Amino acid sequence: MKISVASGKGGTGKTLVATSLALSLIKNNPSVQLLDCDVEEPNVHLFLDQEPINETTVSLPIPKINEDLCQHCGKCTEICRFNAITLLKDTILIFPDVCHSCSACWHFCPTGALEPSPREVGTVQISQSGKLKLITGRLNLGVHASPPVIKAVRGAIDTDTVTIIDGPPGSSCPVMAAVEETDYCILVTEPTPFGLNDLSLAVEMLKVLNVPCGVIINRDVPGNHLIDDYCQEKGLPILLRIPLDTEIARAYAKGIPLVKSSPVWTEKFIDLYQQVTQEVTK
Ligand code: SF4
Ligand code: SF4
Repeated sequence: MKISVASGKGGTGKTLVATSLALSLIKNNPSVQLLDCDVEEPNVHLFLDQEPINETTVSLPIPKINEDLCQHCGKCTEICRFNAITLLKDTILIFPDVCHSCSACWHFCPTGALEPSPREVGTVQISQSGKLKLITGRLNLGVHASPPVIKAVRGAIDTDTVTIIDGPPGSSCPVMAAVEETDYCILVTEPTPFGLNDLSLAVEMLKVLNVPCGVIINRDVPGNHLIDDYCQEKGLPILLRIPLDTEIARAYAKGIPLVKSSPVWTEKFIDLYQQVTQEVTK
């Protein structure tokens, strides 16, 4: 079972849910994997004591020029949609930061003057915290290529183990790379107009990806029906409500997972998992 945890915007409590769900599931499972796919700002490790196991680098191919073979025909500059390669008089300039590794330039260079060369864009770190395995993706500073690093994190999983994926916020390409082909997506939101707007964008994205979803309302306030009304209209289940509570916020700010600061939540997260399992097998 692969469950992704996402939110239309940052700061809604996605990591709080992902860590507490994973820590609750180790109670009844021999092992659980937690993937930190928020590769621009991975922070799950701040909530767990871990033993590092290994770290690998993620690389993407970018063109490398062999000046001796270049005839300065300009074909590569014409074909690059991203303006990542240009011809200045008789010199080829390559801009790795805007290259999308599409491979067009070296395929269409008539003289073989361009060849792919690896550029490191991030890392994947695997660590262990008791029965919980944490796989963290980290994008290098100044690099824009989140999806390849997210795919590398997802490629490092053991497919037979329960997997929880903490995705990046938003509803763009990196989020899609984190949630696509998961069995279910838990959307964490808060009962505000901004929360509702971003939740609706995330729901539309999941519809396109054909991933079923349900909602957790974080910082829930009695009497506020904004998210309830939306979920009722869309036929989305509300899986859990986490109240607006200064004790929860204080523990989270200290890097203490909700199920550790308040163990009564463990059963609630196990129940959440059972609800998700029922939704998936409907
Ligand atoms: S396509 Fe090849 S030969 Fe032509 S300018 Fe580019 S690198 Fe040089
Ligand atoms: S690999 Fe693609 S994006 Fe990068 S320089 Fe070549 S054509 Fe441009």
